[in-house]
Amino acid sequence: MSNAQTIPRKVVTQERPAPDELVPSRYAVRVGDIDVLVISDGILTPPAESMATNVEPEVRDAWLDDRFLSKVAFDWALNAVVVRSGDQTILIDSGLGEEYPDFPRAGQFVHRMEAAGVDLAAVTDVVLTHMHFDHVGGLLVEGVKERMRPDLRVHVCAAETKFWQAPDFSLTAMPPALADLARKASLDFLKAYRSNLRTFDEEAQVAPGVVVTRTGGHTPGHSVVRISSGGERLMFGGDALFPVSFDHPEWHNGFEHDPEEATLVRLRLMRELAETGSWLVSTHMPFPSVGRVATAGDLYRWVPAWWDY
Ligand SMILES: [Zn+2]
Repeated sequence: MSNAQTIPRKVVTQERPAPDELVPSRYAVRVGDIDVLVISDGILTPPAESMATNVEPEVRDAWLDDRFLSKVAFDWALNAVVVRSGDQTILIDSGLGEEYPDFPRAGQFVHRMEAAGVDLAAVTDVVLTHMHFDHVGGLLVEGVKERMRPDLRVHVCAAETKFWQAPDFSLTAMPPALADLARKASLDFLKAYRSNLRTFDEEAQVAPGVVVTRTGGHTPGHSVVRISSGGERLMFGGDALFPVSFDHPEWHNGFEHDPEEATLVRLRLMRELAETGSWLVSTHMPFPSVGRVATAGDLYRWVPAWWDY
């Protein structure tokens, strides 16, 4: 066990003029010697029914009603992370990008990253949890690739790059237009960053204290990133855990390519997080998406970190 009770320390980042926004869009924590900056890409609004595709509509609607949430579109947070370890600057995922007018509230990662003082040219590594459009889209924004270093390393699971050559959507419940977007974004990404790819089979160390590990489930090559330094730990969980997962880990999400396996993955990760006390940051947990997982009877409970101002 680590000293898991340590509160994540707020760190001051290089300040530049912030964009003219009324909402905070970044939150910095330190894990031992490693800096982790959570940046909000904004909010996606998929159909609320995609949050639970294997239950009766009344059951799903009751859960949404109990939380004062819309039964039409789900306000799904979208977060990405910048990690600084040693002399490496690592992006984990990149948000939605700009090609998706149906989601006007997301796609803000690149300008919010720059507002946080992170220069694209300083990024040494990218880690992709998987290749859905809301994770690779920021790197496809016009002009971004050109501003990246030519020797940029993009770490992604080999099973993921293979999957998107001929993706299977038969077990998903994605609106067809979104499945088409997913196909296009993944192929566009592979084309644009082909020479930068550093694929791994099961696990890779990206930097000191930064390890990416395949979980599968959500997509065949879906991976999580475990960060550890000085006895402290933080996991970036990608799309393994959603807001509904704590009350209903057995609810299938419409974006999961293997929903049965995805359920097993999230149960395994929640057990690990509860046992180790590791911090969790997840793509689609509400910003700043920093919290821990506690056991609650047979289930698990999300315990958000208290903001440190
Ligand atoms: Zn996602």
